[in-house]
Amino acid sequence: MPRRIPPPPFDMAELAPEFASLAKETTLLYPRSGDPGVRHSSMGGPLLWPIDEPWPYCAQFGHWAYGTDGGAGSSEPGAVPMVPVVQLFARDVPWLEFPRGKDVVQLLWCALIHDGDPAGAVLPKLYWRNEAETVAAGLLHDVPAPHEGEYVDDLVPRPCTVCPTPAVEYPGYDLPHELLTSLGPRLEELQDRFGFWYTEVASALQNKVGGYPAWTQSPDWPHCDQGHRMEHLFSITGEPAYGRWLPLDEHEPGTTLPTWDAPAAQDALDAIGPELEIGDAGGLYVFLCRQCPDLPYAHRHDCH
Ligand SMILES: [Zn+2]
Ligand SMILES: [Zn+2]
Repeated sequence: MPRRIPPPPFDMAELAPEFASLAKETTLLYPRSGDPGVRHSSMGGPLLWPIDEPWPYCAQFGHWAYGTDGGAGSSEPGAVPMVPVVQLFARDVPWLEFPRGKDVVQLLWCALIHDGDPAGAVLPKLYWRNEAETVAAGLLHDVPAPHEGEYVDDLVPRPCTVCPTPAVEYPGYDLPHELLTSLGPRLEELQDRFGFWYTEVASALQNKVGGYPAWTQSPDWPHCDQGHRMEHLFSITGEPAYGRWLPLDEHEPGTTLPTWDAPAAQDALDAIGPELEIGDAGGLYVFLCRQCPDLPYAHRHDCH
């Protein structure tokens, strides 16, 4: 069931017609602590993994964990198992286009820091599968436990169920500069009237599929080797537990704040999410090129 989220306090496209063409559909995942199974869409949950395919390990040399000196904490290539980050079944996200014959997408990453990687931080891997074929061939049950290391926990999502929820959003950092300049006075007027900058209600800094990347810094869209600009597939963030995108039933009871500014109940705050911390309130963004037949992907990372 999709979550019920507050309506925006204003219609961006009505307020500034220039925004109409910038609206993008996205799917918010709303990961919430739970006990998903291998046949469920999840964040940080068990994956539907074929028995004849070895579990992936990170091949990069010299990855390390925060809080270590980069020496003692570094690990040999091939020694660190990747961890599940997202698994989505086509039935839960019917509006997401899967490659022909595939109906499961899985994102894993190595939860250590990778200096040699231009995007830094974790190192993701993306898999597309066919559910029926994978189940028929048998599933891998002997999945290695995540590597243990100081602060690595921040990058290993807690098992969560998801509630894919379609929403419409507008660009934050992706707003064309000329438009930002020309709309500046009107956006400032909005801020005076409602008390927030428009991106706080128009751009979703959430765990999501499609839409705009949840950048917290300047955009850095990757291109594939053939020069195609890639499309945004996933944003993975330690999403805020307040504000415009917080489901209505998670607002603190009795809060008098407007729906777009309401926090979650304080007690529940730490218990509801995937407990991810990527940089300092940053995110990891996965991109895909559908123009190339082998569906190359790339990632970017930022920290606030
Ligand atoms: Zn690694
Ligand atoms: Zn391409």
